Amino acid sequence: MVFGYEFVDLDHDQKHARRVLLEWYPLMAQLSALVVLALFVCGGILSFLARQGLDYERPRSPSFSKRAEGKSTWLKKSCQGSIKLSWWMKKPVAASWGTRGEWIGGGIWMAWLLYLSSAQTSNDYLHLTKRFGIIGASQLPLHYLLAMRSPYSPIQHLTRMSHEQLKASHQVLGRIIYFLFFLHATFYMNFFVLSGFLAKRIKDKDVIIGILSIILLTILSTTALEPLRRWNYRVFFTTHVIIASTILVPLYFHVTHIRKYVVETIVVYTIHQVFRNLGIRRYSGTIKLLPGTNLVQICIPLDTPEVAFGWKPGQHVYLSRPSGKSSAGSLYGQLLLCNQANPFTIASIPAKDGELLLVARALNGNTKHLEKLARSLSTHNGTHASIPLALEGPYGASTRLPDFSTFDKVLLVAGGVGATFLMPIYRSIVESPDAGHSSVSRTRFIWAVRKLAETQWAFPARDSDEPGFELPSHNSTIEVCVTQPSGPDLQASGSGDDIELAEDGQLLSMEEQMDKLGKGMTVKGGRPSMQAIVGETFSKGTRIAVLACGPKGLTEELRSVVGLWIGKGYDVYYHEESFGW
Ligand SMILES: Cc1cc2nc3c(=O)[nH]c(=O)nc-3n(C[C@H](O)[C@H](O)[C@H](O)COP(=O)(O)OP(=O)(O)OC[C@H]3O[C@@H](n4cnc5c(N)ncnc54)[C@H](O)[C@@H]3O)c2cc1C
Repeated sequence: MVFGYEFVDLDHDQKHARRVLLEWYPLMAQLSALVVLALFVCGGILSFLARQGLDYERPRSPSFSKRAEGKSTWLKKSCQGSIKLSWWMKKPVAASWGTRGEWIGGGIWMAWLLYLSSAQTSNDYLHLTKRFGIIGASQLPLHYLLAMRSPYSPIQHLTRMSHEQLKASHQVLGRIIYFLFFLHATFYMNFFVLSGFLAKRIKDKDVIIGILSIILLTILSTTALEPLRRWNYRVFFTTHVIIASTILVPLYFHVTHIRKYVVETIVVYTIHQVFRNLGIRRYSGTIKLLPGTNLVQICIPLDTPEVAFGWKPGQHVYLSRPSGKSSAGSLYGQLLLCNQANPFTIASIPAKDGELLLVARALNGNTKHLEKLARSLSTHNGTHASIPLALEGPYGASTRLPDFSTFDKVLLVAGGVGATFLMPIYRSIVESPDAGHSSVSRTRFIWAVRKLAETQWAFPARDSDEPGFELPSHNSTIEVCVTQPSGPDLQASGSGDDIELAEDGQLLSMEEQMDKLGKGMTVKGGRPSMQAIVGETFSKGTRIAVLACGPKGLTEELRSVVGLWIGKGYDVYYHEESFGW
């Protein structure tokens, strides 16, 4: 037989002993997940204490090269070691193949679950086969918890990670569960064939439901693969939502032994749906196309801005596909609200601005629809009529951003519409009541755009009646790099009224755009040089925060340059917000 396993005949007592082990090991699998979470909590506490210790030991003098001795050096070395390790773990093994951390973490968890599947099975082939299934089922509640978007998710609280950051663990665990179920199904089929029971057992309810379940899980896992997800996100999303919510029914009726895990999963799933529905709010807002761009701007005035006081800069909401009319309150309407929604970052600071501002780049699916809707609304009305909009959220990792005033330098790098994430963070740093010259001079914001017109949601033209953002007076400026200027050799610098063009004769349309420049920005032509920007930033401190949001090429280049400085032992906080996955 395979690996020393055989089909063995067991008496009643032996079957009972097997059943006891079949209950015990999945329980171990669940409890060990709690141990992992406890380790996360301990890691979080240790890192907090280490950070406090480092802050206490840090020289307050501007001499950044000054090195502390003794205990702080030891502490510093451990912190540097952990920063380097976490940086190394976050590196992808290959393009679209996940990170080293995902492979190592997933590999260790897989090995542990395989051990729990085989421990004390002696040579009993059926024991091993059943164990694969029940150990896989024991992971379902955790798998659904990891998919929980709501900020009330206990895993988000314990790990201090957002839904977006936990998505990778959800994917890895999904693959592990599928592999265990696949082994369970394959080993059973092998048993039926070799023992001559196939013709009889294939007609039994548990086997039919088992086969149906593995087919559904195969569809679920296949459509979740990155190439398919990228090819058609809606196919992935629809199959995922439908199968993830229906698969629990056949699993419940497959065999009674896994029912407790299925019931736990149903509880998690139901709580998640309730939280999501409670998080949906209906508003009325305007939607318009920004001239000269494929950006759609959605403005939602808040009658009671106080409701937004708990919202943190950089958070995002899910905007349901608007029809332009009031949506029906039916169950189907509610389902569409939840599932036909795309994430968009809140580009304003709602409590301060009294409005929610979303900026969406029109691509292929729902965003194309937003563009069409904006076009049709502006054709029918010169002014921008208000339409009903449904938003779910706010969500996002930015609730756990550090206190930037403790950093020597803060570097923000945005590409295109990625500035929706960084603009409110930048504003919250430079507009904070205790922010003075130092916090402004410590913070550098580079924003690369293809066309200057793409900045108009933040810096409306001077002749426009749009309010825009009022940056504080103490010279806070955002460095805008226009990568595709309408004329060659753009060399421009200045802020607001003070613009100089080197080759003004050739730059008619750009000149027109520059003429309308808002306050608080300087403009350069060409791609920003990450090497130079990062080098300049790191030369002015040892504790640096770098936040980025933009196209892959831009963030990859930034990451590789920052990685060099992390290798040199700099204390770096790095956060990259991704607009796709
Ligand atoms: C946290 C976050 C914040 C974002 N903020 C902005 C923003 O401020 N401005 C902007 O222009 N774009 C933003 N995006 C990207 C934006 O959601 C997608 O570009 C947009 O949905 C693309 O839609 P589409 O019309 O091309 O196609 P669709 O078929 O509508 O969606 C396809 C793509 O949208 C993304 N997407 C859609 N729904 C979801 C979902 N439920 N969860 C995760 N990803 C989803 C996926 O990347 C997918 O590939 C953000 C994305 C994320 C994950």
